[in-house]
This record gives sequence, structure tokens and C-alpha cells, in this order.
Amino acid sequence: MGMMETFAPTGIADDYSIAEDEIAVPAGIDERQVESVERDSVPLRRWPAAIAELYYQEIVQRIYREEHFLFLLGLLMCLATIAVDVIVNPGMAKEGAVLRVLVVAPLTLIGLIAGARGWSQVLAFCVGASPIAFIAVVVHLAVHLPPDLAPRYIHATILLVGLANVILPYSLRGLVIFDVSAMLVTAAMLLLGGTDNLAQHADTLVILALVAAATLPVAARFEKLRQRNFLLTLRARIFSRELLKANRALHVLSQSDPLTGIANRRGFESQFETAIVAPGENGRANDLIALMMIDLDFFKAFNDAHGHQAGDSCLKLVANALTDIFDSADGVVGRYGGEEFVAALRTRDRAVILAVAEEVRRTIATVLTPVDEADRSLVTASIGVAIAPASAMLPREELLEMADAALYSGKDRGRNRVEVVEAEVAFGIRQ
Ligand code: GH3
Ligand code: MG
Ligand code: MG
Repeated sequence: MGMMETFAPTGIADDYSIAEDEIAVPAGIDERQVESVERDSVPLRRWPAAIAELYYQEIVQRIYREEHFLFLLGLLMCLATIAVDVIVNPGMAKEGAVLRVLVVAPLTLIGLIAGARGWSQVLAFCVGASPIAFIAVVVHLAVHLPPDLAPRYIHATILLVGLANVILPYSLRGLVIFDVSAMLVTAAMLLLGGTDNLAQHADTLVILALVAAATLPVAARFEKLRQRNFLLTLRARIFSRELLKANRALHVLSQSDPLTGIANRRGFESQFETAIVAPGENGRANDLIALMMIDLDFFKAFNDAHGHQAGDSCLKLVANALTDIFDSADGVVGRYGGEEFVAALRTRDRAVILAVAEEVRRTIATVLTPVDEADRSLVTASIGVAIAPASAMLPREELLEMADAALYSGKDRGRNRVEVVEAEVAFGIRQ
């Protein structure tokens, strides 16, 4: 293989900026499951537990947190209505203020605190309990108002129930519980307030029920849209996760040699850049960089004599041996192509480089025993070594050319040998 070939650019997408946890989907949720939930139009059918849990964690809890402002609004309303009492109902204003401050405001405050502290159960309770307490107080005040003023207060509760159905973060079931509670509380307050004939107020309760019935479908529609949105996003996340996995697998494949399992040329190039050229804390300024081209000798003849299968097995054995050597020397190695391997080291000690190169030569010569009739090893290799100071920052292509030239001079001088060429540099700068 010619050394002058241009190289593919390095830095191939080997750093994936999307971390897997950013698109994390809990184990046990797969695409088919989500798709079947999404297609399932039967309302109120339970979702698989893992999906329901994720929906609760990511959507429901977030909505509760985001609806924090509702409590602030509730607190303001609670205080503002004290002023309304003073204007509309001066006789009851004191009692109204006491009830609002002692019953409604504390529930709203607890809701605010629960939201800030993340007490989700308390928060979920207060979201419904504070408007119901508000309704209770308003109805209580209404029954003591002159008949012409009472409907104004009652209408406020009806409006509140309709609004709550659209705004409150409850599921449809939660809203039904809320509406029924609001109606029961209204009825109870009417009775407690001395209404001996509940039938007189039947219109109030009927209107309340109608408003609830009319707004619940709107809430149901909202929830359905929210769930669909969640499921679609979840599917997209699962898709991205699978894609990322496939990408990673492809990336590994694109960097490794299928026959020997070690890095291919592209894999070697990126390892060379990360582990040798820019080794981080392991590198020192006065290090040397050594690049070795390792070419099996007369390998065509080996194939001809022993068959291609044996040739393949031999390449695997050589790859394993090289991996052992360069792993323990903290170097990198790859199959450059055919029966050529390439390896690199970074060290301060020139003697280490020479020892490793010699170890490579010796090991390959003993990779396949026994020796042939001519008492030669069945396979040997010639090794061209290029050495340059790391500080000279020679381009990889240049080091490869130097190593290749050394390799071919090794071939000329009889093979099964190591040839070394050093970059001519003065004070670490190439001349
Ligand atoms: P030299 O000492 O000059 O390097 O001689 P050589 O025979 O090794 O060199 P040449 O380039 O003529 O032949 C290389 C041979 O390597 C040719 C091919 O049959 C063999 N080879 C290349 N890749 C593979 C492979 O994947 N499997 C096998 N079995 N043989 C391979
Ligand atoms: Mg060759
Ligand atoms: Mg060869």
C-alpha cells in the first residue's frame, strides 16, 4: 500500500455531543409499547406502569410546579375579596375576613410552601382544597346576604368551578372529584347557613353541575393533547436513543478491522491523534514520538504455500501479539491494510522505542512455530521506525512517509529487521 495516499481527515465524529442521559428513557419502555398506548383511543384505559410513572414524573409534577402562580393568585384573590365584603356586605365583613384569613389563606400558603419544597402530595391536595375552602366561605357569606345580593356571591362560585376545570392541573378523575366536592360543599354550606329548604337553591346546584359538565370535556381535551404530546416526544426520544446506539455501533465498526478486530487505518489515525499527539496529562514537552510501519515479509508466498485461510489466521495472531506489546507499552496499533500494520508510541526514552521495535520483530518471528525446512520462521516482518520530538509537531503523513522509507530500506537489506529514521530537528524545531 502506497504511503503517499492522502489520509481521511481525522477527528471523525468520535465525540457525540448528545449525552445518552439527555434522552434517557427508563428501561422497560420500548417504541412499540408507546405506539400502542398512543393508538389506543379507549379513554381512561390504564397505561403500562413504566409509561404512567414517567408521565407523572415529567409532566404532571412539572405542571404542579409551574402552577405555583395559582396559589399566589389565590392568595391575592383571598385578600381582595375581603375588600369586596366590606363594600357589598359590611355586616358580614368581619366574619368574612376572619374566615378567609384563617381557612382559605393558610391552605393557599401551605400550597405555596409545598410547591417550593416539592411536597407533591400536599401540593396536589392544596391545589383543590384552597378553591373549595374559598367556595365554602363565599357560600356561607351568601346565605346571610339580602336575597338581591346573594346571587352575586353564588355566581362567583359557579364561575370559579368552571375556571378551575380548565386551569387546575388535575387529571379528569381528579377534576370530577373536585367538582363533586365543590357541589357537596356548596350544598352543605347552604344547609348550615339555615336554608331549611334545599330545593330553593336547586337552581344554584343545577347550574353548578351544568357548568362542570360543560367545562369537563374541555379539560379532558387538554389532557388528551398533553398526553399525546408526551407520547410523541417519548417516541422521538426512544428513536434518538436507538439512533445514537446504532451510530455508536457504526462508529466502532468504521474504526475497526473486521478480520483482526484491532483498529483499522481510520481508527489508528484517531487514536494516534488523541493518545499520542495530544495525550493530555500523560505527555511531556520533551517526549519523542515514534511511528512504526510493520510489514510482513514474503506474505504473498506464505499465502501461496499455506492458503489464504492460514494467511488470515496468521494476520490475527500477529494482530493479537501487536496488541499485547503496544498495550503494555502504552502505544497504539492498527491494521494499515493487507499485511501491513502501523503502531505508535510516545516516550521520553529512545531506548524504549528501539526495544519495543525489536520486541515486535522477535515476537512476529515466533508467532507461528514451527519454522520451515530452510530453518526460517514461517513469518517475519520488517519494521520501519520514524522518530521525532513531539515538540516538532510533524504531521502524521510525514512520519508515515519516513517510516515507510525506513521499512523499504529494511526490505532491501534482507527483511526481518528494524530500520530507524530520525527527523532532523534542532532544538525541537524541524529544519
Ligand atoms: P514483501 O516482503 O516485499 O512485503 O512481500 P509480500 O509478499 O509480503 O508483499 P506483497 O505486497 O507482494 O504481497 C502482500 C500479500 O499479502 C498479498 C496478499 O495475498 C496478502 N494479503 C493481504 N491482505 C491479506 C489478507 O487479508 N489475508 C490474507 N490471507 N492475505 C493477505
Ligand atoms: Mg505490503
Ligand atoms: Mg509484505
